[in-house]
Amino acid sequence: MPDRTVPPVDRQLPSDEARDLISLVRGIAAREIAPHAAEAEEAGRFPRELFSLLSRAGLLGLPYGVEHGGGDQPYEVYLQVLEELAAARLTVGLGVSVHSLSCHALATFGTKQQRIEHLPAMLGGGLLGAYCLSEPTSGSDAASLRTKAVRDGEEWVLTGTKAWITHGGIADFYTVMARTGVEGPRGITAFLVPGDAPGLSAAAPERKMGMKGSPTAQVHFDGVRVPDERRIGEEGQGFAIALSALDSGRLGIAACAIGVAQAALDEAVAYATGRQQFGRPISDFQGLRFLLADMATQIEAGRALYLAAARLRDAGLPFSRQAAMAKLHCTDTAMKVTTDAVQVLGGYGYTADFPVERYMREAKVLQIVEGTNQIQRMVIARHLVGQDSR
Ligand SMILES: Cc1cc2nc3c(=O)[nH]c(=O)nc-3n(C[C@H](O)[C@H](O)[C@H](O)COP(=O)(O)OP(=O)(O)OC[C@H]3O[C@@H](n4cnc5c(N)ncnc54)[C@H](O)[C@@H]3O)c2cc1C
Repeated sequence: MPDRTVPPVDRQLPSDEARDLISLVRGIAAREIAPHAAEAEEAGRFPRELFSLLSRAGLLGLPYGVEHGGGDQPYEVYLQVLEELAAARLTVGLGVSVHSLSCHALATFGTKQQRIEHLPAMLGGGLLGAYCLSEPTSGSDAASLRTKAVRDGEEWVLTGTKAWITHGGIADFYTVMARTGVEGPRGITAFLVPGDAPGLSAAAPERKMGMKGSPTAQVHFDGVRVPDERRIGEEGQGFAIALSALDSGRLGIAACAIGVAQAALDEAVAYATGRQQFGRPISDFQGLRFLLADMATQIEAGRALYLAAARLRDAGLPFSRQAAMAKLHCTDTAMKVTTDAVQVLGGYGYTADFPVERYMREAKVLQIVEGTNQIQRMVIARHLVGQDSR
C-alpha cells in the first residue's frame, strides 16, 4: 500500500535510484521531521537522534564516493534531497549541508591514507561535522583570520576563537582554517580537529532570530594539539580549500532556500483557498492570485538555477560563478516568498499558530551564511570584469 501521507515524486531525476532516494527522504520528512519542527524550534532543540537516523539511512555522505562510505550521488540529486529536508525543517536541511561542507576538505584535498582513515566515520559513522572559517573580527574578509597554528615537532598547536560555528559544541569533528604563515590568504592551513580534543571548548549558543534548534556558537582553541597527520592539504593551501568547499556549500544553501520558499508557498496556497472574505475564497481575488503566481515562478527559476549549477559541477566543469548566482537568487527568493506568504495569511500569518512567520525568520539567515549576498555579487562581478583595480 502506498503511504498517502508522502507526496508522489514529481521531480526530474537522473535514475530510478535517485527517485527511490527522494521517496525515502519524503517519507522521513513527513513522518520524522515536519510534525516536530515547530515545537522543537520553539524549544531550541537540536535533533541529534534524527541525524543518527539520517546517517544510518546513508544521507550524510550522499555526494561522496562509495569507496569511503559515501552515497556516490550526483550533486543534482544530493541538492534535491537537501531541498526536501529543508522544506520539512531548515535546521535539518542546513545541518546536513554544513556537515557535507565540513567533509569536503578531507574528501577533496586529503591524502589517500587520510581518506581511508577518517572519511568512512565522517560520512556514514554517525558523526556530525562543523566548518570553522569565521571569527569575531573576520567574516566577509575571511582571509584576515587570526586563529594561529604553530608547529611543535610532529604536532600543531591551535590557539584562537572561531565565531558563528554551526554545530559548535556538539560536533564530533571540526574542519578548521588557521594561520600558519604570512598575513592574508596564502598563510592559512586547514586541519581536521576531533570534537573531544583537549583545549577545545564552545561558548553558549547565540540567541538567534530563527533556526533556534541549530546551535551556532563560538568555538575556542586554547592550545589544542593536532598531529601533522590531521593537516589537510599543503601548508598555505587552507584558504583555497575553504573557498573550494564554499563553492559547493553555497549550492546547498541555495537548495535549502528553495525548500523553505516552497514550504511557504504550499502553506499560502492552502490558506488562500480555504479563507473566505467578501463571501468568496481569497484565492479568487486577482491581487492574491498574481502574488501566488509570482511566488511560484520565482521558486521554479531558483530551482532551475541551482540545478543548472549542480549539473555543471557533476560534469566536471567550472561552476563557481553559477553557484554564487544560485545562492544569491535562491536566498533572495526565499526572503521575498516567505514575506509574501505572511501577507497572504494576513494577521494569522504574523502569529506562531502558522509556520510562515518561522519560515520568514529562517529565510533571513540564508542571505547571510556562506558569504553574504553582497559577497556573492562581488564573486559574480569578479568573474565578469576581473578584480577591482584598488
Ligand atoms: C546562523 C549562522 C550560522 C553560521 N555558520 C557558520 C559556520 O558554520 N562556519 C563559519 O565559518 N561561519 C558561519 N557563519 C558566519 C557567516 O558566514 C558570517 O556571518 C558571514 O560570512 C558574514 O560575516 P559577518 O557576520 O562578520 O559580517 P561582516 O563581514 O562584518 O559584514 C557586515 C555587512 O557588511 C557587508 N560587507 C562586508 N564587506 C563588504 C564588501 N566588501 N562589499 C559590500 N558589502 C560588504 C556584508 O555583506 C554585511 O551586510 C554563520 C553565521 C550565522 C548567522
